[in-house]
Amino acid sequence: MKKLIPAFAMAMSLITTSCHKDEVKTDEFDYTVDKFADIEVLRYKVPGFEDLSLNQKKLIYYLTEAAIWGRDILWDQNNEYNLPIRRMLETVYTNYDGDRNSDDFKNFERYLKQVWFANGIHHHYSTDKFTPAFSREFLVAELDKLPAGDWTASQDTILTIIFDSAVAAKRVNQAEGQDLIATSANNLYKGVSQAEVEAYYDALKNPADTTPISYGLNTRVIKEDGKVVEQTYKLGGLYSAAIEKIVENLEKAQEFAENDAQRCIIETLVDYYRSGDLRTFDEYSILWAEDTDSKVDFINGFIEDYGDPLGMTGAWESIVNFKNEEASHRTELLSSNAQWFEDNSPVDSRFKKDEVKGVSAKVITAAILAGDAYPATPIGINLPNANWIRAAHGSKSVTLENITQAYDEASHGNGFNEEFVIDAETSKLLDDYLFITDNLHTDLHECLGHGSGKLLPGVARDALKAHGSTIEETRADLFALYYLADPKLIEIGLLDNPEAYKAEYYKYILNGLMTQLMRIEPGKDVEEAHMRNRKLIAEWVYEHGKADNVIELVKQDGKTYVRINDYEALRGLFGQLLAEIQRITSEGDYPAARDLVETYAVKVDPKIHREVLDRYARLSIAPYKGFVNPVYTPVTGEDGTITDITVSYDEDYVPQMLRYGRDYSALKPAE
Ligand code: ZN
Repeated sequence: MKKLIPAFAMAMSLITTSCHKDEVKTDEFDYTVDKFADIEVLRYKVPGFEDLSLNQKKLIYYLTEAAIWGRDILWDQNNEYNLPIRRMLETVYTNYDGDRNSDDFKNFERYLKQVWFANGIHHHYSTDKFTPAFSREFLVAELDKLPAGDWTASQDTILTIIFDSAVAAKRVNQAEGQDLIATSANNLYKGVSQAEVEAYYDALKNPADTTPISYGLNTRVIKEDGKVVEQTYKLGGLYSAAIEKIVENLEKAQEFAENDAQRCIIETLVDYYRSGDLRTFDEYSILWAEDTDSKVDFINGFIEDYGDPLGMTGAWESIVNFKNEEASHRTELLSSNAQWFEDNSPVDSRFKKDEVKGVSAKVITAAILAGDAYPATPIGINLPNANWIRAAHGSKSVTLENITQAYDEASHGNGFNEEFVIDAETSKLLDDYLFITDNLHTDLHECLGHGSGKLLPGVARDALKAHGSTIEETRADLFALYYLADPKLIEIGLLDNPEAYKAEYYKYILNGLMTQLMRIEPGKDVEEAHMRNRKLIAEWVYEHGKADNVIELVKQDGKTYVRINDYEALRGLFGQLLAEIQRITSEGDYPAARDLVETYAVKVDPKIHREVLDRYARLSIAPYKGFVNPVYTPVTGEDGTITDITVSYDEDYVPQMLRYGRDYSALKPAE
């Protein structure tokens, strides 16, 4: 599971702790790389890379190569025409010899930048198809100037996909009551209906199996001779050419593994890529979860299932990272107290874990972001996703602090506080404590929230179906919110002020009730799981605290502001909702999950929505941010051996995208 940065946090000016301030002043690093449409592209630093050993640098280098080589897989998973479309657009872009300041070209360039950012033709967050602002005639005229392109799909088909708004309109459709497969434009299913896929998996699953594989995680489901079958992503199977390059670089990385455990992890992952056997993936996941000693770590594979409306197939992603020892002290304190948090939560004891195993948490420095984690990236990750592995072997939870730091630095002085925060006192609270409590919220969410609680026997991982992701994120967020205000955090030295939690509480409610709506187009519903979860929580506590006036929406000068009158009562409400969400999860109570999501998480009040959009429009804040990667370059000695790996930060967005497209195109379009 991943934690995305809340709209509020990434928009806010988060000037906080003194050490942090010092760094800002002396820092000439230019974080903003590019801005277009609703996107701002940033860069991130990799502090500490230079201090790693040569072996660790080589290990990271080959892992980053294995990461970038998987890029095409995700593009194809997102839509079957993404690769030919990218190839066509890049060819036109690089060969264009007309006026680069003309409206058509500028609109074309913006569209291409959007497509790059989304790894395809659908918005990375809303999953709606982009609407090109350039004309079909412009593109056709440019294509006519080029030699016949090898797009593998016909030019007419590609043009229809790009320009016909009714075709492939949405990558992931979550609308209740529709055939979610037929109406989703991803490439994870072909020629099968939702009912057929559900029946297919129901027949495979054995409810008595206590260690089930993650069905469908690495497959596309199609129909062959009238029968529903899975095509496996593996060497010799689907995406073989890209997987071959991944495996090749994993094997090189393996030579520089830090220890036997890590060598074994890489070897098992390679075995899995060779066989496609999900039992082997589980073995790998267990080894990976149990390795808490290695400094360098990585994710590489089909991991998160948000791109699949049924929550089965994993989107390909990779993040390579190494431990930030100093900051990890924070998360180590939390995990060493994991059992205390589990025992003291407001959840019914039937749903608690008797023994919380190995909740391992650390703060990491990301070295590369790839696949589904690039350019838009999570700020926290908790894996593996398989519930039984988490229960029996624990899970590993990380916070990507060089990424949160880049968000923070890039947001200084953007005017957000002045526009949305009710008064100077609250602004000061946020200035003083939001950076630390926001990081703590991420730590709690990842290392304790997702790992807490248990399913009752016989309850399936996907019992909550399309609402599973939203409820799971709600659960982890509530666990974090509830404990953020607990004296325990002061006792173990993570916070120094009993009022500090109010900063995160205020931010969370403001975001959930109002500011995150800036990401939604007028008239649309909230769809993304994390946004739904924040809305669900904020709206629920607002309504249930109404009688006691816990949270108030007040009008000043025609503007709506959030005022929190009773923070302690608010904590109580978070606890109540946590107990209910845990019950729903543990019992697999689908109707209750659906009712909560539909009542609180989906529908937007058009008046407040309009107001938020208008107020945002006056600030120049991009709703979404993402990153370019640093560039790693091997330095070789006279005999050709690698003597060092350098890291540089000067590659811009367009050059990086074109370079990846040129040098890491593993898949023939439409494979
Ligand atoms: Zn999460």
